[in-house]
Amino acid sequence: MICPRFRNGSACVGRSLCSVSRAQSRKWIGLLLLVVAFSSPGNAQPGPESKKRPNILFIFSDDHAVQAIGAYGSQINKTPNMDRLAAEGAVFYNSFCANSICGPSRASILTGKHSHLNGFRRNGNLFDGSQVTFPKILQQVGYQTAMIGKWHLSSDPTGFNYWEVLPGQGHYYNPDLLQMDGSKKRYEGYCTDIVTDLALTWLKEDRDPDKPFMLMCQHKAPHRNWAPAKRHLALFDGKTIPEPDSLFDDYSGRSSLLQENEMTLRDHFHWGHDAKFHGENEFPGYFAGAHRNGEYRRMSDAQKADWDAHYEPENQAFLERMRAGEVSDDDVLRWKYQRYMKDYLGCIAAVDESVGQMLAYLDESGLAENTVVIYCSDQGFYLGEHGWYDKRWMFEESLKMPFLIRWPGVLKPGTKSTALIQNIDYAPTFLSMAGAKVPDEMQGRSILPLLKNEGMAPGDWRKSIYYAYYENVSVHMVPLHDGVRTLNHKLMYFPRSREWQLFDLAKDPQEMTSVHAVPAYASVFSAISKQYRDQRQFFDVNSATIPATRGFEGWWRKRQLLTNERVEKKRGKVDLVFIGDSITQSWEGPGKAVWKEFYSNRKAVNLGFSGDRTEHVLWRLQYGNLKGIQPRVAVVMIGTNNTGHSMQDPKEVAEGVRAVLDLIQERTPKTKILLLGIFPRGRTQFDSGRLNNIAINQIIRRYQDERVRYLDIGSVFEEVDGSVSKEVMPDALHLSEEGYRRWANAIESVLESMGI
Ligand code: CA
Repeated sequence: MICPRFRNGSACVGRSLCSVSRAQSRKWIGLLLLVVAFSSPGNAQPGPESKKRPNILFIFSDDHAVQAIGAYGSQINKTPNMDRLAAEGAVFYNSFCANSICGPSRASILTGKHSHLNGFRRNGNLFDGSQVTFPKILQQVGYQTAMIGKWHLSSDPTGFNYWEVLPGQGHYYNPDLLQMDGSKKRYEGYCTDIVTDLALTWLKEDRDPDKPFMLMCQHKAPHRNWAPAKRHLALFDGKTIPEPDSLFDDYSGRSSLLQENEMTLRDHFHWGHDAKFHGENEFPGYFAGAHRNGEYRRMSDAQKADWDAHYEPENQAFLERMRAGEVSDDDVLRWKYQRYMKDYLGCIAAVDESVGQMLAYLDESGLAENTVVIYCSDQGFYLGEHGWYDKRWMFEESLKMPFLIRWPGVLKPGTKSTALIQNIDYAPTFLSMAGAKVPDEMQGRSILPLLKNEGMAPGDWRKSIYYAYYENVSVHMVPLHDGVRTLNHKLMYFPRSREWQLFDLAKDPQEMTSVHAVPAYASVFSAISKQYRDQRQFFDVNSATIPATRGFEGWWRKRQLLTNERVEKKRGKVDLVFIGDSITQSWEGPGKAVWKEFYSNRKAVNLGFSGDRTEHVLWRLQYGNLKGIQPRVAVVMIGTNNTGHSMQDPKEVAEGVRAVLDLIQERTPKTKILLLGIFPRGRTQFDSGRLNNIAINQIIRRYQDERVRYLDIGSVFEEVDGSVSKEVMPDALHLSEEGYRRWANAIESVLESMGI
């Protein structure tokens, strides 16, 4: 059932509850309290919590940074309802996400796992809803579960008795919501209010009052493009929002990769979408142009009139000054910052009211006493720090997640915790609150012991959290990186430039200077590097198996596009592919004549890319290299760059090769694979790289089965004493024409036997 006020098409923006719903709800509240107090724990695991299993109300927003919450010391806005939650419960100051981007954070919350294991590494991935998630387990132990609002995981929600979600990012004004029957329903009004009212309606009218509930009330706000409700448009009129110290950051003292970002207020703030100007971009030197304000186009005439009445006078006044040349470059940036913040904070005002409405309903219904209420957001956000909007980087402002929690009778009011917690902990925490067993596969850890002990972590609590960001070469151009954060330090690693960054958070809380190469920090660097390695091992992180693009390199991006086009044009007319790195690519160089002789009449395609490691091959095969073809045979030889670039552990590289074989099987199931042992490298048999390749080969030879034929032809390149000659391998890695001839001859009879 829907709040009756929606039915007449008007926005449901009131802060008090619908009177009809309230009257209905009162009838069964007494009964509900009895049920909650005396209900049996069903098939829950017996435990101290199972006697009075609490309801869980999870209020969640999108991109809400702790700098904009009163309880965290905000200097720029007020959030009285969130602050009330904190005062009656706890604030966690060291709460972090595992991957600072919308979809991945949600997937980590649901599964209790890091992105590389739950499969949702970047926005645009499809969440595998058949996975184990905490809502599913709560359902199994007798909870009623509901998910209302922003979902952003592409696949339909699973594990919920009721769901109604925004498609993709959703809209602020007059949003559509996907229904459980597959239809889409449009609501007139403001998204935050609509989600709140739908959540309240489910609580009051639709759930089974005989069961404990877990409700996820998830707002779109304050996500870009920051469109406040009518009632909050003028909230900050006449006020100046204080600027962060690092608004004019020049990115010196840190990796040069920071310079490449595309998320600055100075250069990437859009004319229509962000600045809210109408019409053509009049100042393309100051405002990015391509992105129009889609929200405005959705508005009714009345909404547009309210919107324009607020924005137009200020916009026109500013443009007049711009036209008159009265505004300096820095002042344009300052103006953008004010526009950005007032809109962003205006959106938060509605979220804070939503929290207030939910708390008020819990109070008046009597549910408050046995309901755990959490407020958090999928990650933090840059509110002008480093000159940025958006998130993604492992720097503090977007790494931190607000986490406010109230649990009457268990959690001491006014608790302030500095324990290191992370979004992968939520699933185990909710399950343990419900007395359910936490599956071993969940990587997070329940914070229940902390909640029962005034926020204090037990002695064996983690000493660092692990973070990884995967959405590189995408919007905002933030490179792939990962790292660990302890209470006082942060280590970041950028695989692309093979650079470390180390920050002393006590001395440099704004992270303006990396001290990774400062001698005085040598012991800190050594210790935190060990934590980094240990965390990666503990969480089963193997970069060889995680698809990674090299799209930031122009030639690679071009070759990928051309290869995809070529393969697609050949649709069905490819019998043989060679998959690998530069040694394979160079069939087009020193190997050209031999290729012509052996393969030019055999419908063969070269899928070798210089410098590729297993993870890059995984990316390419996933994004187009096998599209529309079913080759009879794929010759695979990959891994020597995993050795050459970082002497990666043989077991990890072998897993990368395994992942390549599995992906080929998934994409082109009819293809047979000729898996070649990685060729020898280095002049002599004592070369450490060659030894690493030999160790990898010892593992991958076992991958032979009815579909995969394994062949080690390394000896054809070697002399009797195990050395390789300059005639065969001029640089002790790549082949000469003679080398390619030996390769072709060595596999010819096998290819024939495989039907080529
Ligand atoms: Ca987000």
